[in-house]
Amino acid sequence: MKSRVVDYFISLVKIDSESKDELAMAQRMRDDLTAMGAEVVFDNAHVKTKGNVGNLLARFSGQIDKEPLLLCSHLDTVKPGKGIKPIVKDGKIFSDGSTILGADDKSGIVEIVEAIRRLQERQIAFAPIEVLLTISEEIGLFGGKNLDYSLLKAKTGYSLDSHRIGSVVIQAPTLNKFDIKVFGKESHSGACPERGISAIQIAAEAISKLKLGRIDEETTANIGIIKGGVARNIIPNEVTLEGEVRSHNIEKLEKITGAILNIFNETAQQYQVEVKNQIYKSRVDSKVTNDFPALKIDKNEEVVKIALQAAENIGLEPKVEIGGGGSDSNIFYSHGLNIPILGTGMQDVHSLKENISISDLEKGTLWIMEIIKEYSKRGIRNIS
Ligand SMILES: [Zn+2]
Repeated sequence: MKSRVVDYFISLVKIDSESKDELAMAQRMRDDLTAMGAEVVFDNAHVKTKGNVGNLLARFSGQIDKEPLLLCSHLDTVKPGKGIKPIVKDGKIFSDGSTILGADDKSGIVEIVEAIRRLQERQIAFAPIEVLLTISEEIGLFGGKNLDYSLLKAKTGYSLDSHRIGSVVIQAPTLNKFDIKVFGKESHSGACPERGISAIQIAAEAISKLKLGRIDEETTANIGIIKGGVARNIIPNEVTLEGEVRSHNIEKLEKITGAILNIFNETAQQYQVEVKNQIYKSRVDSKVTNDFPALKIDKNEEVVKIALQAAENIGLEPKVEIGGGGSDSNIFYSHGLNIPILGTGMQDVHSLKENISISDLEKGTLWIMEIIKEYSKRGIRNIS
């Protein structure tokens, strides 16, 4: 089964748009959205993010006098995303297995654009719409972080960047990144091990005392990278670790991050050696950065109810969900915008098996059409 939505999706995933290199994709979207009657502007976010194009904002004036509705998706894909060759098989679209597919997030773009196109073709009146297509979402939400918020008139809307059609993600954790350096003392491992302190041993001992993985229902912790040592016969002087803590609760985030750093410090303090009347102590350097704030939209907000109602209207299974990752919506929320994340049907994202079913592309389009209709009928009154 071929349809316009499938053809459009296939044509967009063929345009290379890895993070920081979204120019070709942005130009295509500017042309398509302009042809549909939108006014398209770009900001200068890429000057700070070192990409080749800024965030794209397309404004459709609409025919119903309401506050504009924001519909958001991101232009960039993860790697490997160059030369994508989409293949249609058993009702699903895959890559040829050598790249990702880019359904994350071109399925979102297609569903937004196709929904507006169909409303226009059927001459159905709708409220003003702002389509925001961000850059460099995948490498740190840089488009959202550097967006020129003065361009936006909308205060609410949806970001299409989740999985299951019908799901409305209203909460997502905040994340602390931590970098830890453990310093020991170098020495020959055979000739004079007494004069050394193994940074690897200290790091290992500290890690063995940590609780990692799921800490509780709203908090997780991980150490993802550990590097250290220079040779088999040298007691290692330095080990570096990169980790993260995520929580839906900011106090827990700070408490767990602090506890991890404490364990490293306390462990290191137990190690010292004396060489020629001089005491050498091990020590720890650490750096913590908050990567993104939490997203916490009340499930009774009108924007949530509209998405659920719209899903129900067209026979989808509506569901409010809590997410585990960060997305542009976390950043928007810290700027006072309530933007729940909607599922587009994308599957196995960030992998060579990434895919989307044709029926989900179609259902996602119908859902966005219905959301625009429902919003245009009701408008939004924020409760917070
Ligand atoms: Zn995404």
